[in-house]
Amino acid sequence: MDLFEKCQGFYSDPKYAQKYGYPTNPRTAQMLGLYPYFIPIEHAEGPEAFINGRKYIMIGSNNYLGLTTHPHVKEAAIEAIKKYGTSCTGSRFLNGTLNMHLELEERLAKFIGLEAGLVFSTGFQTNLGTIAAVIDDGDFIVTDKEVHASIVDGVRMARISQRNVDVRRFEHNDPADLEKVLKSLPDEGGRLVIVDGVFSMGGDIARLPEIGTLCRTYGARFMVDDAHSLGVLGGGRGTGVHFNCLDKVDLVMGTFSKSFASIGGVIAGRKDVIHWIQHFARPFMFSASLPPANVATVLACLDVIEKEPERVERVNAIGKRVRTELRSMGYNIGESETPIIPIVIGDSMNTIKAWKIFFEAGIYTNVAIPPAVPPDYGLLRTSYMATHTDEQVERVLGTFKQVRDLLHLG
Ligand code: PMP
Repeated sequence: MDLFEKCQGFYSDPKYAQKYGYPTNPRTAQMLGLYPYFIPIEHAEGPEAFINGRKYIMIGSNNYLGLTTHPHVKEAAIEAIKKYGTSCTGSRFLNGTLNMHLELEERLAKFIGLEAGLVFSTGFQTNLGTIAAVIDDGDFIVTDKEVHASIVDGVRMARISQRNVDVRRFEHNDPADLEKVLKSLPDEGGRLVIVDGVFSMGGDIARLPEIGTLCRTYGARFMVDDAHSLGVLGGGRGTGVHFNCLDKVDLVMGTFSKSFASIGGVIAGRKDVIHWIQHFARPFMFSASLPPANVATVLACLDVIEKEPERVERVNAIGKRVRTELRSMGYNIGESETPIIPIVIGDSMNTIKAWKIFFEAGIYTNVAIPPAVPPDYGLLRTSYMATHTDEQVERVLGTFKQVRDLLHLG
């Protein structure tokens, strides 16, 4: 059989798509006008996006603090290009370390509240590299069932690198179930527990104090993916600061592709552990370093977060208002406690149809269906920015009210 036969089938044959976990094949979805992915944005101004000449209110972005268009941030990126050019064209190990990388690592470690930091070229690589680097033969990894795909793949990479790695998963955000798992592990072997600080689809916050205490009790190291918490919770410093329990967290991972208006990732922790990761994380060692403009952007974002703390307050206030109003309209928004607010629909096709209704009403949301979410838990992922105006929030809420009955959700 030809290796590419499945690709042709996936593209053209409706039966094929389901085999690979899609509700319909991309071409049928496109013909029905129900293809919600890869929509080209012609022009973007923070909370607004222009598509096919029409203006949409953007509630599908991770630009929580609205910093992608902040003048200080844009200027810093331009200045960095003028000084260093557009790329480092090499690994951090070789020619790819600038003094700016070291400055950023120091500032991020201080901001997060841990000893040292290491900057990767994406958040995904940060999880892949860190998990595979710290896990040794005979160790145990325990994750929440709903951790991000990059953690799932980091665990896979650890299992490929080491012959004997045992992986367990505990019920979502359930410390009692975690305790059962930890109790059941044999005494030998190191233990790493991993959670998302804020879950990227549900917008709920991990129960860090209880989970951290269990890690200390059962001798496990604790890693928190704060991709969606940095810039948003704990005055922007993440879930450990939010709960005042950073002393129970060993590794904090963050991305720059959300509040920090860039791309890249960081792992922060004890100095010797970060030094180890620096020498064993293959996605760090064998990939070119973060380009100068991206480094400068994150440094400038840290300036803004420190100088304009009202942005962090604003995004949380908008989140709180939208959650309250959507719940009172009868929408199922799960356990959201943050500016990530899912509209849970369930069936994948109905979720895509709901997306289309909002899209036609001028509201840009994101569709999340399996494998991004558990089976039959299709949802529209909405998320808010500090720079959404009150008027835009009113319009979004007005549209939610209008389409509620159309969706038979209320
Ligand atoms: N962790 C979480 C929780 C995420 O949501 C994401 C990206 N959506 C990542 C890691 C990967 O980050 P990046 O986009 O920087 O690769």
